[in-house]
Amino acid sequence: MNDVVTTTATAGAKLECNACPVLCQITEGRSGACDRYANVNGVLTRVDPVLLMPRSPQRVAFAQNEADWRGEIVGAEVFVSGVGAGTTYPDYKPAPFIVASQSEGVDTVTVVTEGIFSYCSFRVKIDTDRYLGPERAVVRHRGEAVGHVTTQEYGSQFLSLGGVHHLTAGSKREGRVACDLMVALGNREAVDLSIEGGAELRVQAGQAPIVNGHPERRMRVGCGSATIGIFAQQWLGHVDEVVVIDDHITGVLSEHQAGKCLDMPPSGIRLRGRKSTPGRYFQVANPGTGWGGTDITDPLSIIEGWNPKIARPGLRLLMVSTTGDDAAWFELDESLRPVPAPMPAAVQTVVERIGENCEPSLATVLFVAGAGGSLRAGVTDNPIRLTRSIKDLLVNVTCGGAPAYVWPGGGITVMVDVARMPANSFGWVPTPAVVAPIEFTMRLHDYRALGGHVGSVVRLADVLANAAVRTEPWDPANPWPAGIGR
Ligand code: SF4
Repeated sequence: MNDVVTTTATAGAKLECNACPVLCQITEGRSGACDRYANVNGVLTRVDPVLLMPRSPQRVAFAQNEADWRGEIVGAEVFVSGVGAGTTYPDYKPAPFIVASQSEGVDTVTVVTEGIFSYCSFRVKIDTDRYLGPERAVVRHRGEAVGHVTTQEYGSQFLSLGGVHHLTAGSKREGRVACDLMVALGNREAVDLSIEGGAELRVQAGQAPIVNGHPERRMRVGCGSATIGIFAQQWLGHVDEVVVIDDHITGVLSEHQAGKCLDMPPSGIRLRGRKSTPGRYFQVANPGTGWGGTDITDPLSIIEGWNPKIARPGLRLLMVSTTGDDAAWFELDESLRPVPAPMPAAVQTVVERIGENCEPSLATVLFVAGAGGSLRAGVTDNPIRLTRSIKDLLVNVTCGGAPAYVWPGGGITVMVDVARMPANSFGWVPTPAVVAPIEFTMRLHDYRALGGHVGSVVRLADVLANAAVRTEPWDPANPWPAGIGR
C-alpha cells in the first residue's frame, strides 16, 4: 500500500481522506467510497501499489538477497506511472510523485498523478457495416442515457460515450451509471449498450463488437464503388455484370468508370435508389443488418428491371456484399429474369479475395480528457507554462505510459487508446468523476523553466522507499516517454 499521501486525523478512529472533494471519513480498517484509499492503522493509505514499468525487462535485476530486498530495481530505466499513484486535493499541492531520472545521459523529470476527470469521455469506433442507429440517437446503458451515435466513418460507426453532461447534468442515477460505464470501458471490460431506434451492442476494447447478438467478423474492404474499383480487373472475362451492395454507395461494374476503362459493355440493369455518378448508387435499400449494411436479405430486391434493348438471355450477374460474406450468382433466362446458378470457380475466388482483404472487426476505445484545468497546479505554480510547454513539444504527455495525442488549440485535451494503457488503469470517485493516470515527462531544465515544483522532485529510490510498488514490463509498442525535447 502506498502511504505517501498526507494523512489527516479526525475525532475518534476516523481519518478524513483528502484525496478528492468527497472528503470521506474512514474508520480504521475500512476504505473510502472509491475503494482507492483506506485507513490502515491510522494512516491514510492508497490501496493499490504504484505501477512501475522497467524499460527492458531483461535488464532488471532485483537485489540478490530476498530478505534484504527493499524494492530496488537495478540496471534499467524505470517509468513511474500514474496507475496507483494517488491524487492530491486541493490542487495546489504538488503531484504525488515528481520523479527525477536520467535517460541516455539527460536529466529528466516525470510528474505523476491520477487525475480526477469530470470533463472526459470515450470515443468508441465500432468496425461494422451493420446499421447501429441514426446519427445523434441516444445510447443507453442500464436504461440511462450515456452518450450518442456520431458519424459513420469508412467501415466504422463512432459512438461518443460519457462526458460531463451525462456525469453532472442529468439525474444522480444517470451520472453514476455513466461513470460506471466509463470506468468499465477504460478498463477494457465488455459493456452492453442499447441504441434508441437501433441496435443492441456489446462492446469491449480490442474485441469484436457484438451487434444484436451476432459477433462481427469482417470490416468491409471499402464501399461498393471502391470494391468495384479494386476487383474490376479480376472479374473481367468471368462476368457480364457485378453489383456490390452497400448501404452507402452500391457499385455497378459495367456503368462504373472501372468497367468503362476495361471496355465492358452495358448490361441493361436498372437499380433502385438514387444515382450519384456513373455506376454509383445511394439508398438502394434501407439501412439494416442484411447485405452490405442494408436491410435486404434478397439481393434481387434492389433490381428494378432490365432494359430489354440491352440485356440478353444468358447474361452472367454477380451480386456481392462489401465483405464478401454474402454473394450470389445469377444468369438471365429467356424472359430476362435472373435465375440462381452455381457460381463459377474463378468468380468464387474473387469473392473470397474480398473477404481476405477485410480486416477483423474490432471495437476501439479512446479516452478523451481535459487536463488543462486545476490538475496543472500539481505540476507548476504557473499552469499556463505547462500548457505552452506541451504545445511547444517540450513535455511528453502519457496516460499510464501510453502516448497521448494532445489536441491542437486551447487547453490540454488528451486522447489515448485504452488498449495501450496498463490493465485496470481507471477508477472513479463519487462526485462523480473518472480517475485516470497521467504523466508529464520533460527535461529537468525545462521543468525548472516552467516553474515546476522542483523542491518536490524525488529520485526513484525515494519512491521505492516510501510507496508500495508493483512492476509490469514496459509495452514495447509505446515510445519511451523520456525521449523528448532533445
Ligand atoms: S472518494 Fe476516495 S479519494 Fe475521494 S475522499 Fe473518499 S476515499 Fe478519498
